[in-house]
Amino acid sequence: MGHQMSWKRILVDGQERIQLEGSISEHTDFRSLIEVASDSLALDLAHVDQINSCGVREWINFVNALRELGKNLEMHRCSPAIVRQLNMISNFRGDGKVQSVLAPYFCDACDNEMTQIVDLAGIESPPEIAETLPCPNCGEDMEFDDLVDSYLGFLGR
Ligand SMILES: [Zn+2]
Repeated sequence: MGHQMSWKRILVDGQERIQLEGSISEHTDFRSLIEVASDSLALDLAHVDQINSCGVREWINFVNALRELGKNLEMHRCSPAIVRQLNMISNFRGDGKVQSVLAPYFCDACDNEMTQIVDLAGIESPPEIAETLPCPNCGEDMEFDDLVDSYLGFLGR
């Protein structure tokens, strides 16, 4: 289990985003996040490393509360842990718009791990995910570290 979720404000291209970091569980308190959201909330989810089943429930309560308050939710750079939930649970995003996700890659040759951003804002159909990428560390092929055919499956719903 990673450390408890914390958040901070970041600026990306002039837009204020709230960057979440750590694990989402039954101990995660989303109230302060609902309070900082004015009419919309742009979350950076790149550093959410884990969500347990109680955390999923807290998250869904959170997105439902935003919807009831009429606040828009944007989800940027969703980590693989978040993408897994998007694919498993149809109401995980609520009315949230998934703007981009991170695709995980692993290098067998040197154990290097990295993620590649996949931009989803304004797209008509799901973009292709590259199955391999050259490893910046050793030059061998890094392999996509999930299921290439279903990683963006949530887009079809
Ligand atoms: Zn490598």
